[in-house]
Amino acid sequence: MVKLDAMENPYRLPEALRARLARLVQDAPLNRYPDPVAAALKARLRQALEVPAGMELLLGNGSDELIQMLALAAARPDAVALGVEPSFTMFRTIATCAGVRYVGVDLREDFALDVERMLAAVVRHRPALIFIAYPNNPTGNLFDAGLITRLIEAAPGLVVVDEAYHSFAGESFLARLARHSNLLVMRTLSKLGLAGIRLGVLVGGGAWLTQLDKLRLPYNVNTLTQIVAAEVLQHAEVLTEQAAAIKLERGRLLRELQRVPGVTAYPSDANFILFRIGHAERVFDGLKQRGVLIKSLHGSHRLLADCLRVTVGTPDENDAFLTALTQTLNA
Ligand code: PMP
Repeated sequence: MVKLDAMENPYRLPEALRARLARLVQDAPLNRYPDPVAAALKARLRQALEVPAGMELLLGNGSDELIQMLALAAARPDAVALGVEPSFTMFRTIATCAGVRYVGVDLREDFALDVERMLAAVVRHRPALIFIAYPNNPTGNLFDAGLITRLIEAAPGLVVVDEAYHSFAGESFLARLARHSNLLVMRTLSKLGLAGIRLGVLVGGGAWLTQLDKLRLPYNVNTLTQIVAAEVLQHAEVLTEQAAAIKLERGRLLRELQRVPGVTAYPSDANFILFRIGHAERVFDGLKQRGVLIKSLHGSHRLLADCLRVTVGTPDENDAFLTALTQTLNA
């Protein structure tokens, strides 16, 4: 399969760096527990992410685990988590499993934030948590930063700006952390090329993170993840260059998709493209039969009727996808 369903970076690490990682892993003290606070890795992350002075870091086994810690922290009778629809489905799933009622407010037809309805929901539900993916998955767009700021200012609880796709967008709320004491910013190494090691990062004020840290299992970030992430972050330019190549391909893929008759492809600030096409389910199956796996969102939300999402791959993978798409439509 050409695998374009999960927003992975299609490129492997350079051979020399992989050899270096092999040596580090060979010498790793696997008989010992990991460093419970991952001090060396946190120091690297601080630099690589340009974490503002005075802010702290909390690490998770992927950002999924950080979302779980946040939901567990908020969970008490009548607690509500607020988000937009459609968005990253784990916000709802994890909150619900933690016993937190999840309220989703629909985006506008153009996938913009419906801030008036969000503000009304804030007043009505007094959410302990608000999740905003920036850029949003699966729509790929960045919401207006001014509107998000209004939401942060109106929120009675925490607002988590999930910047999983930051490397492909450039925009960030990190610099605003000092201004808003109820803001937390979440990042992950998954989309950058390290989905396999599972490392998510939550950045924010120490007062919040100290409390959230009480919910963290003692050794949630294992030794291999700590070693590999710290080493790769020493060579962060490798990941930055790969992200730049993906952004270039994103532009080409969007232009090519927009040329396909019957396709509406939406501009993206992430490493995937959402597009609408008649008989999306049949197109999805046709692509799969031709060895290309993408994601069908048809049926998941009113705004995503006949929508499919394709991850930006290598030029060859994107060509394979475009060829399979043309073949499917002409079949
Ligand atoms: N946030 C968003 C918006 C995502 O789309 C994803 C992955 N699809 C995640 C978080 C989860 O990332 P991780 O691999 O760090 O758990």
